[in-house]
Amino acid sequence: MVDYIGTERVQELVAAVGPARFMEELAAHIEQDFRRWNEFEKSPRHATHSPVGVIELMPISDGRLYSFKYVNGHPRNTAEGLLTVTAFGVLADVDSGYPLLLSELTYMTALRTAATSALAARWMARHDCRVMAMIGNGAQAEFQAIAFHHMLGIRELRLYDVDPRASEKLERNLMRLDLEDLRIVRCTSVAGAVRGADIVTTCTADKRRAVILEPEMIEPGMHLNALGGDCPGKTELHADILRRPDAHIVVEYEPQSRIEGEIQQLAPDHPVIELHEVITGKVRPRTSPRDVTIFDSVGFALEDFSSLRYLYELNRAEAGTHEQLDLVPRLEDPKDLFGGLAERIARARERAAPRRALA
Ligand code: NAD
Repeated sequence: MVDYIGTERVQELVAAVGPARFMEELAAHIEQDFRRWNEFEKSPRHATHSPVGVIELMPISDGRLYSFKYVNGHPRNTAEGLLTVTAFGVLADVDSGYPLLLSELTYMTALRTAATSALAARWMARHDCRVMAMIGNGAQAEFQAIAFHHMLGIRELRLYDVDPRASEKLERNLMRLDLEDLRIVRCTSVAGAVRGADIVTTCTADKRRAVILEPEMIEPGMHLNALGGDCPGKTELHADILRRPDAHIVVEYEPQSRIEGEIQQLAPDHPVIELHEVITGKVRPRTSPRDVTIFDSVGFALEDFSSLRYLYELNRAEAGTHEQLDLVPRLEDPKDLFGGLAERIARARERAAPRRALA
């Protein structure tokens, strides 16, 4: 039997652990896996584009476990009452090839994206960051806000979205959590939200080369957490921000980010740092409090691998409903796959026989 974790079970687990601790523990799993970067067989994700969105497959393995995620990105979906991003995934045992877990990953994508953003910011941002601007207040926003409040010590959150209902929703949801000392300020422009902020998170959805942040908005010492630009032709930062001589750009996996990240706007040899180099202490992305650091996040398969690994352990450890799926046949003789089916066929024929006799 294969463990199954649906959306309700993920809600139950996050509620039991608490969202902030959940993301902190998830970030620790992600960090552990980034530290053993060379053990992983990696590839850029396989993307199937349409005029309105993308469907992607994200496989990875460390030789013991294998995982993949199915994820979509459809910015216009919300107008139809649907999510922009949905996902599910599988964790499997490499030795047998058998799946261990089938899980929802829509909640988990939001949780792991926020955990990765906060983890990267811990290594890249100044240590005295207190104010974060959040541009784009949709489905990912609460997760980012909670992770940065808990893991970075953010105490003022400036919200801006072209849709004021999205900011209202974000504020309402955050108020329900009663986060310690958190001041929420709603802003009427990107420039107003960004002015004087220590960290700027861009989390918008638009399938085009958008310019959410202009060069004149960027102040010395800022950390930019840019996660909405994650497809070819879908970006959020003006290219001159990336070209600043004092800017240090960190990506998750360079071959994928060259295709999908903000850096698709740059020359292919423009220097970037990979996150594992930062986490293992090989490269320091910030050399002065006045440097501008940019986490150009697109989401990498390793983060989903860590999420599935964490979920698998947590689901088995925590009380509650442990659902399992009848996804792989269980056979006495593994060479006799037809045997079980033959029995079903015989029984179906027996049930049908009296009906035929009566007819
Ligand atoms: P969403 O559609 O729920 O929210 C996006 C919000 O952006 C909406 O409220 C929309 O009104 C707002 N917006 C659009 N254009 C804007 C603009 N010019 N200025 C201000 N606000 C604007 O989407 P979501 O699920 O929150 O995802 C946000 C983005 O993050 C998507 O582009 C998605 O593909 C990306 N994403 C990246 C990662 C990653 O790992 N890097 C993971 C998940 C999602």
